[in-house]
Amino acid sequence: DLILHNDKFIREEELVISKEDRGYQFGDGIYEVIRVYEGNLFTAKEHIDRFYDSAEKIKIVIPYTKDVFHKMMYDLVEQNEINNGQVYVQVTRGASIRQHHFPADTPPVLIGYTKTVERPVELMEAGVRATFIEDIRWLRCDIKSLNLLGNILAKQEAHDKGFYEAILHRGEVVTEGSSTNMYGVKDGVIYTHPTDNLILPGITRSVILTLCEKLEIPVQETAFTKTQALEMDEFFLSSTTAEVMPIIEIDGQAIGGGTPGPLTKKIQEAFKANLNLGVKA
Ligand code: PMP
Repeated sequence: DLILHNDKFIREEELVISKEDRGYQFGDGIYEVIRVYEGNLFTAKEHIDRFYDSAEKIKIVIPYTKDVFHKMMYDLVEQNEINNGQVYVQVTRGASIRQHHFPADTPPVLIGYTKTVERPVELMEAGVRATFIEDIRWLRCDIKSLNLLGNILAKQEAHDKGFYEAILHRGEVVTEGSSTNMYGVKDGVIYTHPTDNLILPGITRSVILTLCEKLEIPVQETAFTKTQALEMDEFFLSSTTAEVMPIIEIDGQAIGGGTPGPLTKKIQEAFKANLNLGVKA
């Protein structure tokens, strides 16, 4: 496999990362995961925009134009002959003598690589189970930071208890999942947390909201509570890899009869149709 190291394609064995890379020592960097369907980068522009936005929010300057970066992502997929898969790309503030404040004149370090991933078809059909876990993360969850301790501790706790995902909440208010956005459906209306500093503005979330507008499904970007979550008619999550995933049970309590709900299925179908699978580009 070829991996991207700054603007060069190298073999993995050739990659050298400094012991003092700030990503490694501080989690001082940001990342993106971009889905590849049938060789095409899905919503590449949106992911690239968020990558640059996240970098800007932590004052890392990516030394390539977005067009050049887009071409690098495209070449990475092509060089590795990825059909269905994903690109992982991250940028750190670079390597310099360990100190908390930013180093002067240190170039950022970019790494990108691909892997093959299939669509989680069976899970999307059956639905998954989730559990409430207190959201202990910082107050800039809008940044796709490499610092994922709050996320991974939540995911591990959910995983240990046999759940697919953690539904994070700050006090009573549901924010998002440990690596997903969360939605409830009540009386035909979809509710999801607004995009503020408490959640990641999911690209899949924005695709879903656009599809709902086309389908004339009303959406309220309004936060809801844990109690309201348990009273929803349907519940689902979204992410680049999980797509639109029904949640059929929260902490052992069935949601909407314990099977994927009709609006969730409708959005899943619209999402799939929007991928134009099997249509030659
Ligand atoms: N929230 C968090 C905390 C995430 O890590 C992710 C996955 N990147 C998402 C939401 C979903 O975002 P997206 O749809 O862009 O993958």
